[in-house]
Amino acid sequence: MNADDFERYGTEMVKYIAKYMRTLPERRVSSDVEPGYMRGLLPKHAPTKGENFREIMKDVEKIIMPGLTHWQHPQFHAYFPAGNSYPSILGDMLSDAIGCVGFSWAASPACTELEIVVLDWIGKLIKLPSAFLHEGGRGGGVIQGSASECVLVTLLASRHAAIERAKTYPYIDDGYVLSKLVAYSSKLAHSCVEKAGMIGLVKMRQLDVDENYSLRGYTLERAIEEDRRMGLIPFYVCATLGTTGCCSYDNIQELGEVCAKEHVWLHVDAAYAGNALICPEYQHHLKGVENVSSINFNPNKWMLVNFDCSLMWVRDRKALTSALTVDPVYLQHEHDDKELDFRHWGIPLSRRFRALKLWFVLRIYGVDGLQNYIRRHVKLAKLFEEHVRNNDLFEVVGKVTTGLVCFRLKGPNALTQRLLKNINESRRIHMVPALVNENYVIRFAVCAESATDDDIKYAWHEIVNAAEDLMSSKHELEKMNVFEKFESCELSETESEDEVFDQELFDPELIFDQQRSTLKRACERRNLFHRMVSDPKGFNRTLLRALSIDGHRKIRSESDLEEENGEVQRNNQKKKSES
Ligand code: PLP
Repeated sequence: MNADDFERYGTEMVKYIAKYMRTLPERRVSSDVEPGYMRGLLPKHAPTKGENFREIMKDVEKIIMPGLTHWQHPQFHAYFPAGNSYPSILGDMLSDAIGCVGFSWAASPACTELEIVVLDWIGKLIKLPSAFLHEGGRGGGVIQGSASECVLVTLLASRHAAIERAKTYPYIDDGYVLSKLVAYSSKLAHSCVEKAGMIGLVKMRQLDVDENYSLRGYTLERAIEEDRRMGLIPFYVCATLGTTGCCSYDNIQELGEVCAKEHVWLHVDAAYAGNALICPEYQHHLKGVENVSSINFNPNKWMLVNFDCSLMWVRDRKALTSALTVDPVYLQHEHDDKELDFRHWGIPLSRRFRALKLWFVLRIYGVDGLQNYIRRHVKLAKLFEEHVRNNDLFEVVGKVTTGLVCFRLKGPNALTQRLLKNINESRRIHMVPALVNENYVIRFAVCAESATDDDIKYAWHEIVNAAEDLMSSKHELEKMNVFEKFESCELSETESEDEVFDQELFDPELIFDQQRSTLKRACERRNLFHRMVSDPKGFNRTLLRALSIDGHRKIRSESDLEEENGEVQRNNQKKKSES
């Protein structure tokens, strides 16, 4: 394809995209294809000879579109919004065309410098202390690919610092210190926090939340005390602003005070709700930020920027660079201004020019435009909340502070589960569930950029109709023991999670059945729901099988931890008695 072809096909592509966006409401929001649908539609081998652009586009419509969940559809209310906007698409097009790989300042100065400037802009906008800014501070901001990466990178940096601090004697092995490190989050933290702990080979404790689903300082303080008594070394806390399940907020001020006293790194994961910090009325959530070591949020969720764009600020950039620095030979003698060098701020060496799309969005909407967008979504969520509250069949769970509303049918969990199944099967609106303190709730997220009152009314109308249908057939379903089947699915003492997953116990569509079946274990390990909302593959067995993905992870639970600690104590006692 030469430049002339590109111009011609590029124009066609832009038209196709604009038409796709405009006509989205005419499509069903979710797909009805079966796992593996695509194999039969595509050849078994890659084409030997090049093909025509227009032939490919025909297949996009015929093969790709039917298998899509349309995240930008006005009736898409699942997960969190997938940030998107025309300015962002245009910025990313340009970034793709430039095609630079900005791992260092010298590799493409504009790539690094624009990132620094926009991260300082946004840092100031959300009122981060100047220590977090490039401008004058010892810290600064960087764009990572995802919130998970931000959590992992900060955990690794704090792990490195903790090991260095603990090595009072040079002959103490890193591995010995590592075996004693322990990190913390709330039970409602995203699964990426556990994952970071797994990758980082550290113990991870998930702590209880209060009645507002918030992790409090006293809970952390007690856990740290217990662990220190056991000879462990607390080193990292990941607090959440806007939990995935119900958008609750950990108490940063209290946690920060504990972390400062205990010399523990406090990271704040604000993946979704952090975007609202650009509005002054949300900035009270950052009270106590002076004790925070690092923070991230994703404009690719709720600030109209396309994936991938997760912003991360650290108070001390040296903490990152000393943990992550291994210079490839070909970079060692290059012009290298450490102040401007992003090579050591993340896992990959190569970096896309992601700041460009963010810069386009900031300039085209302006701060006012972005604040209006956030506030409009919140207003729509409040409107939805009002509908729920005005209907006796339903109740709202938790507080509505952003674009997310958690609600359920009054009565047994199975009723709400069945309602969601029926609604999603209609493919007219799409939502996902959550488990909030044993309550099965439906999460209604306002997602589309230009969502309107009418979209909310449409969704509510669909929900109420489905609920009324369900209530009228409730008697029949009860006779078929549908709800009992759901309620009685408990993991027996002898069953492992894998065994349960392998049994043909459940209708695979009744996703919550699986969650229920593993609930006992999940309560010990973590709230399984968080795997569900962020990774649908993790809870749909049919998909797991079809795609051969092993979704079962081994994570360290509090009970594992207790067992390990018991082991440590037993070994210590044995050593003492031997000596
Ligand atoms: N943290 C929170 C609070 C989230 O809600 C999510 C996803 O929804 C994540 C982390 C994971 O985000 P990412 O896909 O950017 O890793």
